[in-house]
Amino acid sequence: MHFCWISLIILSLNKVQAQFYGGNAYEAFSGQSIRLGLITDDATDRIRQTFEHAISVVNNELGVPLVGESEQVDYGNSIQAFSQLCRLMQSGVGAVFGPAARHTASHLLNACDSKDIPFIYPHLSWGSNPDGFNLHPSPEDIANALYDIVNQFEWSRFIFCYESAEYLNILDHLMTRYGTKGPVIKVMRYDLNLNGNYKSVLRRIRKSEDSRIVVVGSTGGVAELLRQAQQVGIMNEDYTYIIGNLNLHTFDLEEYKYSEANITGIRMFSPDQEEVRDLMEKLHQELGESEPVNSGSTFITMDMALTYDAVRVIAETTKHLPYQPQMLNCSERHDNVQPDGSTFRNYMRSLEIKEKTITGRIYFEGNKRKGFTFDVIELQTSGLVKVGTWEEGMDFEFQRPPQAVNFNDIDDGSLVNKTFVVLISVATMPYASLVESIDTLIGNNQYQGYGVDLIKELADKLGFNFTFRDGGNDYGSFNKSTNSTSGMLKEIVEGRADLAITDLTITSEREEVIDFSIPFMNLGIAILYVKPQKAPPALFSFMDPFSSEVWLYLGIAYLGVSLCFFIIGRLSPIEWDNPYPCIEEPEELENQFTINNSLWFTTGALLQQGSEIAPKALSTRTISAIWWFFTLIMVSSYTANLAAFLTIENPTSPINSVKDLADNKDDVQYGAKRTGSTRNFFSTSEEPIYIKMNEYLNAHPEMLMENNQQGVDKVKAGTKYAFLMESTSIEFNTVRECNLTKVGDPLDEKGYGIAMVKNWPYRDKFNKALLELQEQGVLARLKNKWWNEVGAGVCSAKSDNNGPSELGVDNLSGIYVVLIIGSIISMIISILCWCFFVYKKAKNYAVPFCDALAEEFKIVIRFSENERPLKSAQSIYSRSRNSSQSIESLKTDSEENMPVED
Ligand code: GLU
Repeated sequence: MHFCWISLIILSLNKVQAQFYGGNAYEAFSGQSIRLGLITDDATDRIRQTFEHAISVVNNELGVPLVGESEQVDYGNSIQAFSQLCRLMQSGVGAVFGPAARHTASHLLNACDSKDIPFIYPHLSWGSNPDGFNLHPSPEDIANALYDIVNQFEWSRFIFCYESAEYLNILDHLMTRYGTKGPVIKVMRYDLNLNGNYKSVLRRIRKSEDSRIVVVGSTGGVAELLRQAQQVGIMNEDYTYIIGNLNLHTFDLEEYKYSEANITGIRMFSPDQEEVRDLMEKLHQELGESEPVNSGSTFITMDMALTYDAVRVIAETTKHLPYQPQMLNCSERHDNVQPDGSTFRNYMRSLEIKEKTITGRIYFEGNKRKGFTFDVIELQTSGLVKVGTWEEGMDFEFQRPPQAVNFNDIDDGSLVNKTFVVLISVATMPYASLVESIDTLIGNNQYQGYGVDLIKELADKLGFNFTFRDGGNDYGSFNKSTNSTSGMLKEIVEGRADLAITDLTITSEREEVIDFSIPFMNLGIAILYVKPQKAPPALFSFMDPFSSEVWLYLGIAYLGVSLCFFIIGRLSPIEWDNPYPCIEEPEELENQFTINNSLWFTTGALLQQGSEIAPKALSTRTISAIWWFFTLIMVSSYTANLAAFLTIENPTSPINSVKDLADNKDDVQYGAKRTGSTRNFFSTSEEPIYIKMNEYLNAHPEMLMENNQQGVDKVKAGTKYAFLMESTSIEFNTVRECNLTKVGDPLDEKGYGIAMVKNWPYRDKFNKALLELQEQGVLARLKNKWWNEVGAGVCSAKSDNNGPSELGVDNLSGIYVVLIIGSIISMIISILCWCFFVYKKAKNYAVPFCDALAEEFKIVIRFSENERPLKSAQSIYSRSRNSSQSIESLKTDSEENMPVED
């Protein structure tokens, strides 16, 4: 009571002093102070600290300082709060900051209104047109921001999840914005009264077809909802949340950062602002508050920020408006009100403040704060990142910063001592295979290959550990329509493996569910086929140098020229010779160019052998010269061409391009790996030729192989089968399988990459290390090792050479055949002539043919003797002669037979 009286006296004195000084009211009251009361139910004491900090900040600029008076009350205890309010009124409070408890605040608001004391509360107002002084954005503006964000996401349906009835205000405004056309909105309430257990609601969400959720509610309620959403299993990449609570930046979001759920929200200030940092510093000193773990987060709540800003508004108002609050009591009397209270409150709402606030620009339209902006924020692995700015009346668009995702911030981004499961395919040489050893190998020692070495090099650089696991032949694909993955892809997506390295092609389809490193190898699809085989040489390949026409004309020329010799010889008198030179005047002359000799002469010349026949006449010599010249040219041409024909062969392949393959030229069948990017290339291509090939592959599933090795084996078997394979793998196989080759140019261009979980935090480090390995030549060294060294060198350069090669028996077999047949024919002729001679002799001596044959045979096989008597004493001929034959006939016999025996 004494206190009241003293206050009253002080107030009266102040008034007298003001009247005395007159004029400038501000100056009149300088040296005084304005009391601000805070009734807080915040157990953490942060609001009080903020309140006091704000007053101390603004007092630096004020002539009439503000004095803060705080009263702590129990949450929801309206009676206690009211008695504190009365106490503040009695002390002459100029404005009162209310507690968080809604009913208590509403109670105090009414009390302050009745006394014309400005009442300030920093929460979302529950009425559409709030009384009191509220810096919190209205439900309508929150609805407007949510509306724009949903539009940016282009949602056609979503769930509106609200905590309690007052948040339906937001829904109401949202529906008003949408009018009759808008997305399908399913409304669900999560109720704190259900023991804080929201799981039944969340399970319903999980079972529903909706995965896009707008959540509005109290800070504690929304945070708990997210926590339970994670427990229920709807905090993953399939779900998107838009949070309509302005305190999202205060949530502990650490656990959701890697969930891949898209969490978007709004905030009014950034932790980087100077005012925020100062306040955090202050709280750090006073309360020992620790720094929040996430980037983009702060423990400064909206309540604190708005309390701070409200103090700023009051301070700015006092700069322009004299305000000397009176001491009041809580009675209902009408005259017992703050005289300048409503003026002061109205003036507060008429100000526009752009600086030194936490929540940005402050100005009012009616009772509602306007002109502010929201940061639209998104949770990424680096924390909360601003992805846009919302402002009323402006078009909202996401403006994600290029480096919004900074994975390296997570536990300093180091890979040291981390262990990763790396998938390999042990059936895919040279990328990975099992080490052949007599010892039993375990762990990573079991595997070798290019991929294995590359991971080891990366591990050496980055310091991580790894465990290899065989992922099988199916590298995997992503089926958009069923939203399912397979093979290695599935292992990575479902978190059972971290990386995969093999001949794994980077494809856009795979990129949808996993990430790839930069390519470590470039390639394209090509055709593996057997090398063109040399055709077996024909029996009469020695005839190849001349065409059959040339042979025909040669034969005709031979006969014609022989005939010419015969005729010209007869026409030339010089060719008629004396057969017995010792007889000077012979009775008859002889011509050497009989038909036999003419043929023999041309034959000798043709075969470059000559004969004893020597033409003497000018005419015969002329034709000889011409014939020799002709044969010289013919034989030289034949010899030159024969060498080329027999040694150089240009084998040709039926398949020279993918077109030949598509046409099944020469009945060549083809296939590819059953599950892989090559098969996928054909099934997705829109080129007519590849569409045709795809149809063929669909119709012939037996041509598809489980892995590349099966394809290589089938090609090797030489059953007119070509295998569509990636060029690097072809290169590897053709170095080892000498009869295989790559046909045609690559059909496309792509690369192999290391597969990793989507948004893998270490991807950048990995890529950098890969680039370094590339620049240092390590990738080239590994490629050379696994392609050209290990197991290579099987195919000699000679076998690859298409130049001349030595002649085999096959090449010259025809000429042997000619020799053999010629020899046989001459044997037959000689036997026939011999038989004829024996027949004639037997007839002459009148001995039986068989006896004569036996006698002559004995002479023939007497190999030691090279002479034969004309007739032997014991021979059957002499015995016969003695008995019946005259000397005359013997003579005749010897004469007749001499030439034959020669
Ligand atoms: N590189 C392919 C893939 O990643 C496998 C081999 C192929 O299809 O030719 O699926």
